[in-house]
Amino acid sequence: MPIRVTVWGENVHEQKNKVVAGIYPNGMHAAIADALNTDPGIVAGTAVLQDAEHGMTAERLAATDVLIWWGHAAHGDVQDDVVERVCNAVWGGMGAIFLHSAHFSKPFKRLMGAPCNLTWREAGERERIWLTSRSHPIAAGLPDHFELEHEEMYGEPFGVPDPMETVFVSWFQGGEVFRSGLTYKRGAGSVFYFRPGHETYPTYHDANVQKVIANAVKWAFNPAVRLADPNAAPNVPVDVALEPIEERGPRLHHDGEEGFR
Ligand code: ZN
Repeated sequence: MPIRVTVWGENVHEQKNKVVAGIYPNGMHAAIADALNTDPGIVAGTAVLQDAEHGMTAERLAATDVLIWWGHAAHGDVQDDVVERVCNAVWGGMGAIFLHSAHFSKPFKRLMGAPCNLTWREAGERERIWLTSRSHPIAAGLPDHFELEHEEMYGEPFGVPDPMETVFVSWFQGGEVFRSGLTYKRGAGSVFYFRPGHETYPTYHDANVQKVIANAVKWAFNPAVRLADPNAAPNVPVDVALEPIEERGPRLHHDGEEGFR
């Protein structure tokens, strides 16, 4: 069974900006999905902001092993109930990859629980991406460093929690550096943030970038059955404790109670 990927695109710049439409005539989401579909181990489809429920219905999420998210101009237009549904799917075991300006997307910020802010400059600088974790599966087949001739600069400090692993760091011509490939575990789900992908440059046509995203899909894929309720917090009564125990002292809660949220 191939890994089922949904590439979620905001699909706003592609409709409004001639430069972006010229680079990505079918949308950035389609370019990313097309590249993934050249891998026989992956089958990728797309969803966009403008779809009903932004294309993120419960059924679609249940049929998605790894979700890829690109957004920029319309983060605020994503409905909060959809954000919660996406985060619940991640906590239940769905893989998630957030690209470039998705650092400020609602689901990424909710999953990180942090400002996710950074410094930035749109000046077409050269970005040199350095591998920082040898033999990491997300870096498989990649050189120790590779360049993107034109990219937007993102600089540290990047306001995210410390990752499990830093797979890449980026250097920019203006002197800044940035942790550009970060892994996280959130609930049962694996999360990867990958920095490159400003919409006015052909970044998602770059073979190395495509390789990173395909590797990240395979890394984030979790073959286990999705948790039915990743927010469950069951009470375990004394009489079913694994070792025999006697109840001691006063208590606030009654048997069978749900507990406070
Ligand atoms: Zn950008």
